[in-house]
Amino acid sequence: MNDFCQALTEKNTTKLLNAPKSDIHNHSVKGCNKAWLEERLNHKFPDTPDRFDGLDGMQKWFTGSIKPYCTGAEGIILRWEGAFAEAKRNNIVRLVMNFGPDEIELVGGMKSFERIITDFYYKNCPDTRFEPEISYISSCDVDREKGRIEEYISSGFFKSIDVCGGENIRPFEDFIPLYKKAEKYHLVKKMHVGESGSAEDVRRAVEVLGLSEIHHGINAANSKEVMRFLVENGIQLNVCPSSNVMLGYADSYKEHPIKILYENGVKLTINTDDLLIFDSSIENEYFLLYEAGTLSAKQLDEIRMNGLKG
Ligand SMILES: [Zn+2]
Repeated sequence: MNDFCQALTEKNTTKLLNAPKSDIHNHSVKGCNKAWLEERLNHKFPDTPDRFDGLDGMQKWFTGSIKPYCTGAEGIILRWEGAFAEAKRNNIVRLVMNFGPDEIELVGGMKSFERIITDFYYKNCPDTRFEPEISYISSCDVDREKGRIEEYISSGFFKSIDVCGGENIRPFEDFIPLYKKAEKYHLVKKMHVGESGSAEDVRRAVEVLGLSEIHHGINAANSKEVMRFLVENGIQLNVCPSSNVMLGYADSYKEHPIKILYENGVKLTINTDDLLIFDSSIENEYFLLYEAGTLSAKQLDEIRMNGLKG
């Protein structure tokens, strides 16, 4: 048994923190550890509720309880620093963090953004494989973004593209112009889909946009056919258990669809999504699934190894 499996069975947090892990579904501005931020701000945030009323409820809680204490460019930069500090604390050896164009503009555009991020990266976790991801809100003005996406992706800084912020806001076809540009610069294509949306949505998104990874995608577990499609095409799902449970997209850790997805051979990774909100860091995500009996230590280890490959 390796250190990771031992750590789970022995409930040894230190050992679990030290085991090499990945976090590849991480919204950078909400990616820092709550305790770290509390210490830096010398301010105690209210306890995270057990459940949020969907994405809107989550956003409302974040805007009301946390954001007022770390607003504007300064606040975002502080939260970015925290996200890299967490990668160091948790031995995250492969880190994919996503950033939105508005965040980049808020800190003075691409050059200044790259300098800030690279600085935190080198100071905290220079040995980590860091793969920045550009992420668009599903309700964004695609025409406008299409016109300026090359400002962000032509330097080669970003390794992947994503769309987040609610599903079924508009047809997948609307995003083709952005994904075409991403393709030109060899970005890995991903999207948030199948979190609230259906299994069929997952397949459609892959087919229309040529995705190779899905953020969430848990509702694919409702269709044997879609799961087979994902396996045959080698599509990876970047799953975030606490996010799903707390937003009400999964009933519990024990009943989390990751079990069915695993049993059907779908390629999976385990991630934090919004650590600052859900207050569950990456080692804890593995621990919660192990403790609930959802997956065995060996199965969780296999998923951990998937994340390290990429
Ligand atoms: Zn997400």
